[in-house]
Amino acid sequence: MDVDVARNLHEVLANLPEGVRLVAISKYHPNEYIEAAYAQGQRLFGESREQELSRKAGSLPKDIRWHFIGHLQTNKVKYVAPYISMIDAVDSMKLLREINRQAAKCGRTIDVLLELHIAEEETKYGLTLGAARELLDGGEWRELHNVRICGLMMMASNVDDEAQIAREFDTAAAFFDECKKTYFKDDDAFCERSWGMSHDYQLAIAHGSTMVRVGTSIFGPRVY
Ligand SMILES: *Cc1c(COP(=O)(O)O)cnc(C)c1O
Repeated sequence: MDVDVARNLHEVLANLPEGVRLVAISKYHPNEYIEAAYAQGQRLFGESREQELSRKAGSLPKDIRWHFIGHLQTNKVKYVAPYISMIDAVDSMKLLREINRQAAKCGRTIDVLLELHIAEEETKYGLTLGAARELLDGGEWRELHNVRICGLMMMASNVDDEAQIAREFDTAAAFFDECKKTYFKDDDAFCERSWGMSHDYQLAIAHGSTMVRVGTSIFGPRVY
């Protein structure tokens, strides 16, 4: 292992104020990297591909809490439903329904975040604010008793302009407040604002993040 995972992890953790949690993004990295972070006490990890995640979850300690951070196809939900701790990037009613269905089959409730599309970049994924309002206004989610919407997730534009990134985080934070007030006033579970990656997590924390998703700064560059 040519990356000092333990040192990198402690450097990142030292930058997190109380109340901000770290999801260590281990996608494309081998088990030994995860074990090195685990040995330092890290228990929250995030992966973006179902097969890779299932393989790792099956071979690594059972007290790891796994987040699925990527785009999850509905036909893959059944594979992660028995063990996933949180699905971070729900961006359709169809996916939410399928998570509910598979969670019910497993006799559990699965925590999810709604993924917002705020960045200027072209991507197929994430709900525009309008689409998110529409989903929540629809109310069907209230009947899905095996999923629990715990907050919002987003990725800022991949640009150097910090002012733009900060604006995007602020837009997400304001939308979180709107959702809290409008739909989740009496629901303490709705509390997470997941934004911030290796290059922007400190800025994200300054703009309301409660849960950063950091990969490269801990594990080094990914080899695809
Ligand atoms: C890969 C990934 C991250 C981590 O990115 P780094 O730049 O390596 O910190 C965070 N969030 C999501 C959704 C990702 O896919």
